[in-house]
Parts: sequence; C-alpha cells; structure tokens
Amino acid sequence: MSPKVTVLTGGVGGAKLVEGLGAILAPADLTAVVNTGDDFRHFGLAISPDIDTLLYTLSGKANRTLGWGREGETWSFMAALRSLGGEDWFNLGDGDLALHVLRSARLAGGEPLSRIVGDFARQWGLGLTILPMSEDPVETRVDTDQGLLAFQRYFVEHQCRPAVRAVDFVGAETARPAPGVIEAIACADVVLIAPSNPWLSIDPILAVAAIRQALIDTRAPVVVVSPLVAGKAVKGPTAKLMAELGLAVNNHTIAAHYQGWMAGMVVHGEDAAPGDVPVARTDTLMHDRGDRERVARVALALALDLR
Ligand code: GDP
Repeated sequence: MSPKVTVLTGGVGGAKLVEGLGAILAPADLTAVVNTGDDFRHFGLAISPDIDTLLYTLSGKANRTLGWGREGETWSFMAALRSLGGEDWFNLGDGDLALHVLRSARLAGGEPLSRIVGDFARQWGLGLTILPMSEDPVETRVDTDQGLLAFQRYFVEHQCRPAVRAVDFVGAETARPAPGVIEAIACADVVLIAPSNPWLSIDPILAVAAIRQALIDTRAPVVVVSPLVAGKAVKGPTAKLMAELGLAVNNHTIAAHYQGWMAGMVVHGEDAAPGDVPVARTDTLMHDRGDRERVARVALALALDLR
C-alpha cells in the first residue's frame, strides 16, 4: 500500500516537489497544503499566487521561461489596461485573468476557496487534493528599509530589492485552518515540507497556530527538503532575506527554524548537514521531471525510514 503523503508548500520551488510526488504516488494519497499569505486583491480580483503556480505546474500549463504565469499566454488585457493609464506593475495574462475572474465571482457568491480550488484542479484533470492553508485572510507583510510593504509590492513591484527587517502575517493569529488541513496532517503517513522559502512561503502556514500544533502532534515523520543548493537559494530572495535577518545561509539555520517537529532533512549534494538531524543526500536541483521524481523518492524514503 502506498503511503499517504501531505506536503506543505509555497509556489515555484514547492510545486516542483509536488509534481515529483505526483509521479510516484496515487493521486488519492497526495495532499498539498498551500500558502495563502501571498493572496491579495488587485483591481477587485482575488489572486492566489501560490495555489495558481501549483495548478499551472501540475497541469503542464506553467510558463517555464518566465517562471510564473501560463505558457503561451497573450497580453491583450495588459495592453488595454496600459492604454487607459491603469497600474501595470502586476502582470495579468489573458488566460491567467480567467482564473482570477472566476475565482472572484465564486467567492463573491459565497463559495469557499477550498471548493473553488478543488473544482479548478478536477477541471484540469488533477487527482491530488490541493488545500489552501486557510480560508480566512492572512496577509504577509514585509518590514523593509523602504517601509512596510504588502508581500506582492515587495516581491513583484520592488523585485525583493528592499532589505528585510521582519516579516509579519496579519490575521494568522485568528485564522482557522481550511477544512481538511488538520486531518491531512494528522492522518498522513508522511509529512513533507517543500523546498519553499521558509520565511515567506512556509512561515505563513506555520503562523496558523492549529497547523503548527498539528505538525507537533502528528505521528508522521516530518521531512524538510532544503531550499538551499550549494549554499545558495535556487531562485528568489531566500538567501538574501536570511542574510538581512542576520542568519547564516546554511542548513543549520534551516533546521533550527523548523526545530521541534522536523524529523529529517534532504540536503543537496555535499552541502553541510545540520548536526544531529537524520539526512538524505541527492542533487536537489529540480530541472526536469526526472529530477523532481528523484528528489520526491529520496524525501519519501527518508521519511519512511524514520517511521
Ligand atoms: P514562491 O512562493 O513562488 O516564491 O516559491 P517557493 O517559496 O515555493 O520557492 C522558492 C524557494 O524554492 C527558493 O528558496 C528556492 O531556493 C527554492 N527552490 C526553487 N527551485 C528549487 C529546486 O529545484 N531545488 C531546491 N532544493 N530548491 C528550489
């Protein structure tokens, strides 16, 4: 019997591991709990960047060149928007827009985000369960040398240039886990933490107190795939942010961050291991499907060994 696996994930880095897991597990045995701290409203539309990255990646629609959005996208909406003098710091492709419009309309009609996401996944032939971490608003805010910035302003508009002093998750204290999240962690045979940014993509999930407690309580081993490859972040601000927060950029810091419930870690190649934590090693750079499947297998094998 194949193990039931629940993976906590952000967007780009996490989606690669989830795709690898999808290649080796029955869809019914795989649940992804996704960060919604990046979610925001733009022109009245509800946008869920990490959930959408997962939907696009797993359904083969992700734009590999841009690293965000859809493959084969067209940009008529943005051109029309610019001609009207609209703010254009956040790019919305025409196909991408359809997802946001439909989600916004259904949310306005009173439907819960988890049902909407579930329907989108099924519509695109995805059999795994994709759960938002919460249906209550949680807003990641970054305190920087240029002031307090909403996450997308920091990430997209300012391209992560401002130096980060602190990160805050507004609403997390009172946010409840989305339906199914706690059960998915409690009933899993294995829980994985994707190589997503620990401070910006995984921390918002952990900031929901009941989810953090579920990780402490679960009998499943929790295995972390390190986002560091040869001492650097593959993409995005992970390493820069660690340095700005005064942290050493290495796996010790990642392990210390997840201390209390992490049972093991997958580290890249010859990268230094974090002390007394059980580790498995592989090339964790996930270029293609083969890489993704290999990293997923190594993470799963380590977790099953630790059971
Ligand atoms: P975002 O929410 O779209 O910013 O994406 P995530 O937080 O899920 O992913 C960003 C993190 O993924 C960064 O810390 C990267 O170092 C890490 N990452 C991206 N690709 C890979 C990869 O192929 N292997 C590993 N180990 N980490 C990766």
